[in-house]
Amino acid sequence: MAEGETLFCAFHPNVPTTLRCNRCGRPICVRCAVQTPVGYRCRECVAGQQALFFNARPLDYGIAAVAALVLGLIAAPLVAALGFWAIFVGPLVGSLTAGAVHRLIGRRRGRWIWLVASGGLAAGLLLWRLPLWLASPFLLPRALWDGVYLAMAISTVIGYLRFWR
Ligand SMILES: [Zn+2]
Ligand SMILES: [Zn+2]
Repeated sequence: MAEGETLFCAFHPNVPTTLRCNRCGRPICVRCAVQTPVGYRCRECVAGQQALFFNARPLDYGIAAVAALVLGLIAAPLVAALGFWAIFVGPLVGSLTAGAVHRLIGRRRGRWIWLVASGGLAAGLLLWRLPLWLASPFLLPRALWDGVYLAMAISTVIGYLRFWR
């Protein structure tokens, strides 16, 4: 293509531009250009790359939920017995869960796997506690450490499974 020739955006045929997507080479206008660490790209190329990055299958979400639920169920009685030490158990359970989920789903990445794993941990805890709290509400103040444990476990899970390294 000759130097200085006017290009028109591939998505907005009326908009002249000098930018091109550096992946597919299509002319793109300022509105369509997405700045990435490797330069300007069209939205389609950016979306395509995200789809490649997140490669988890639907079944992986089920596996993640069940694995987190099982670990949450195992951890819940421990947390009840430990009280203050929940501060240390939370990150431990979180990293165990994230590691187990990551391995069980074949190290695939899913955009919402962190959410499913966190939900599994929370469900595991609630399944133990809810009947207890309903039977004897005066035990509720002890839920403080459950909350601490869950918050730390979930933030650890998010650190592992949301911001994939
Ligand atoms: Zn492109
Ligand atoms: Zn455009």
